[in-house]
Amino acid sequence: MITIDKVSKIYNGTFKAVDDLSIEIASGEIVGFIGPNGAGKTTTMRIITGLAYPTSGQVVLDGETDIKGLTEKRKKIGCIIEGPALNLDMTAKQNLKALCILYGVSFDRIEKILKLVGLCNESGKKVKHFSLGMKQRLGIGMALVNDPKFLILDEPINGLDPDGILEVRNLIKQISRERKATILVSSHILSELYQMVDN
Ligand code: ADP
Repeated sequence: MITIDKVSKIYNGTFKAVDDLSIEIASGEIVGFIGPNGAGKTTTMRIITGLAYPTSGQVVLDGETDIKGLTEKRKKIGCIIEGPALNLDMTAKQNLKALCILYGVSFDRIEKILKLVGLCNESGKKVKHFSLGMKQRLGIGMALVNDPKFLILDEPINGLDPDGILEVRNLIKQISRERKATILVSSHILSELYQMVDN
């Protein structure tokens, strides 16, 4: 479970990017995080994942609030924030392998992830030749390498065509169903977001 408790983030001493935000996300839920560009969604996600510190307030992950406890829990977060971090000169499999090495986990999970994200048949193709939708699906696959309990996806459908949006939407629902992960997904497109979330 993720709790955001009265979190504010002030940049440059004066600019309030997040203003006294409180959210509770129950275990296993897909929660949509909706707001126009500049509303503070990415900043909030960065705070949850530890990429930024809140100016005030706190994040609670499974009851943990101190740095040590949060660091442990954050090992079980998979995320895409501000676009997936992909090596464009490598194939999907090579990208996943590199991340497995980084996490120190076995390569066994790679085939399963490639199947899940529908990239099994793209083994020879470098990521630079992927469509945006394929890159986004690979990014979601990369976020699954550490077998996350929490999945945080920042604007995963941004820029995708209708087919790409449908694929990503179905993928997110499937991950929720099969892995029972708690998923926070942001978008500025309400009509799309509301079709994939529980809340
Ligand atoms: P969203 O994801 O909802 O589009 P962001 O969290 O990216 O919103 O940004 C919220 C506001 O905070 C924006 O006005 C943005 O320009 C500002 N902002 C984000 N990061 C920084 C930063 N590192 N320094 C200063 N301002 C920032």
